[in-house]
Amino acid sequence: MTRAKRRPWVPEALEAGIAERVGRYAALSADALEAELAGTLARHEQLHDREVVNLYAGTNLVNPRAAAFLARSVGSRPSLGWPGDKYETGLVHAQEIEIMAQALICEIFRCAFCEFRVASGSLANLYAFMATCRPGDRIMAFPEKAAGHVTHHAQGAAGLYGLEVHEVPIDDAAFTVDLDRLRHEARRLRPKLIVVAGSLNLVPHPVRAVRAIAEEIGAFVMYDAAHMSGLIAGGLFQDPLAEGVHLVTMSTYKSLGGPPGGLVLTNDPELAERLDRIAYPGLTANFDLARTAALVVALLDIAEHGAAYARAMIENARALGNALAREGVPVVAPEGAFPTRSHHLAIDARPFGGGTTASRAIEPANILVSGIGLPLPPVPGDFNGIRIGTQEVTRLGMGADAMERVARLLADALLARRPLEAVRADVIALRRAFRTLHFVR
Ligand SMILES: *Cc1c(COP(=O)(O)O)cnc(C)c1O
Repeated sequence: MTRAKRRPWVPEALEAGIAERVGRYAALSADALEAELAGTLARHEQLHDREVVNLYAGTNLVNPRAAAFLARSVGSRPSLGWPGDKYETGLVHAQEIEIMAQALICEIFRCAFCEFRVASGSLANLYAFMATCRPGDRIMAFPEKAAGHVTHHAQGAAGLYGLEVHEVPIDDAAFTVDLDRLRHEARRLRPKLIVVAGSLNLVPHPVRAVRAIAEEIGAFVMYDAAHMSGLIAGGLFQDPLAEGVHLVTMSTYKSLGGPPGGLVLTNDPELAERLDRIAYPGLTANFDLARTAALVVALLDIAEHGAAYARAMIENARALGNALAREGVPVVAPEGAFPTRSHHLAIDARPFGGGTTASRAIEPANILVSGIGLPLPPVPGDFNGIRIGTQEVTRLGMGADAMERVARLLADALLARRPLEAVRADVIALRRAFRTLHFVR
């Protein structure tokens, strides 16, 4: 039997721990390994469905009826080409799912064209880059201090596709684009594409003004709504297409609350045609119709409850941010927009040794958050911010009272006011009252 080799580029200590488990799993029979797998999934679900308060912004719960569709057999049936003109035969029923998805996406996001044959938000960004740029072209994207996503940069999809990435100048006090400096830099650099938004968005971005700047130099504008898709669908925050972007990309499993996946939206028929050809014949064979069916169920929830859900996410973030500040947690926010205008919150991580350090430190309290870049002085080797999102706690039906309790527990853990085991016990007790999904049909 061949064993996985040690990978010299992975830290020694990690590889040692992995190698130990590889050995343990290799010693199991197939039945024992499958039982171990089932047990692992059950323990994960026990943790997430009953025992943690998940404030990690890039995740959500999925309507169980949508989740059940993920397992349907249609998922292993590739479906190449347009409905009515499929390469494979036998798709007479399956292709209807595509038509339903397309209609619902365009209705909910108020757009003319959508591409849903996209496995993830990261690949949605690659599609957008391919539709607007050639390798070697320049683009501009949010830097790390404005939570620019890795896929917009050298190590991610943009760099792997051969794009030369420059930073969109940021107004540190406003937590968004510095328009005067963007105009200056865009005229100098003449990028083909300007990417707006990142993984933390506390205020709407000045999309109309960015479009006007792009217009001067013939550049496209793309809005990465990976995190904001649920708010946009709900008609809150901002509507980037209506404000003039050429493309919107997103993940479907964050604030939208659907299965994992990506979407690209546009009102431009030329871009839509390019995206259609990128999806097929370009980059997909089986794009997973089971996932598409699950997305339809999730979108039906959004069609009915999207506005109320978006409003509740934002109200909860405001309540949580204010309560955290009262508890002495250093919440940071754009000038005049304290604590936030979205479902995201930001905390200065410098007093806690950095954002990832702090997230790991409080993990034993069963409260999940993450590190993020903020326009503050850096923390060497770590993020200088902590990011919070209220999309999941809101979906569990938590409201203002629960946010007060969550703020106290998070402050207890972060400020080391109480032992983490004691906080964890209270977190688990809090979760007893919040086990079912809200904003589902
Ligand atoms: C999460 C995220 C993505 C990637 O989405 P996946 O669906 O996880 O690939 C892209 N852009 C931004 C801004 C994100 O935060």
